[in-house]
Amino acid sequence: MKRLIIAIDGPSGAGKGTVSRALAQTLGYRHIDTGAMYRAVGWKAHHDGIPLNDEAAVARLARAADLVVEGGVVAIDGHDVTGAIRTPEVDKLASTVARLPQVRDVLVTRQREMGEHGGVVMEGRDIGSVVFPNADVKIYLDASAEERARRRAHDTAHAGSQAGQAAVAEAIQARDLSDKTRSASPLALAPGAVHIDTTDMPIDAVVERVLALAREKIGR
Ligand code: C5P
Repeated sequence: MKRLIIAIDGPSGAGKGTVSRALAQTLGYRHIDTGAMYRAVGWKAHHDGIPLNDEAAVARLARAADLVVEGGVVAIDGHDVTGAIRTPEVDKLASTVARLPQVRDVLVTRQREMGEHGGVVMEGRDIGSVVFPNADVKIYLDASAEERARRRAHDTAHAGSQAGQAAVAEAIQARDLSDKTRSASPLALAPGAVHIDTTDMPIDAVVERVLALAREKIGR
């Protein structure tokens, strides 16, 4: 049976994590959260005192890093950062290192190695556009800015969630703007991607919709 590459992109709070995890579990695929890779690299650069404008040094760190982003655990160079990377500070560190083309090159290469044999649900911002432009299924999840802020404010895994919806909304909008306007692989709807607005959809319905698309490709 064909084991697909499923690419899930979109802004924060669109439901990528929940949908990707559920899809991977149902299909028996690996779930790879590429945002966690940018977060871990941002965290480690900060931890090591590497200035984030030193692109070559941050890229070296990313290339040499022992990085784990599967099975619900995120670890870099022996540090378990599963909880530590879900803070407003690391939100900013991640989107800052994500603007650096050399860092993206390193992480994109690693992501291709992780997914090239299929049987994978990979979520991020540039999976369908850059990492796997020929992915079997490409999805762009979106939701209204208010709904995304509401979800993030209720996300207990994220330490910034207590800040209140208005502060969360402001931070999300700043990060979206950075992700959509950067010159290296900006967040955008990839050619051939199916756009799903999840604002008024229960998560199960989103998962069912993507599963139907996946099953068409698998041929059953
Ligand atoms: O998905 P998450 O919000 O955890 O991602 C953190 C940051 O990493 C994003 O704001 C974005 O700047 C960056 N990112 C990226 N490309 C990806 C995944 C994440 O630029 N494929």
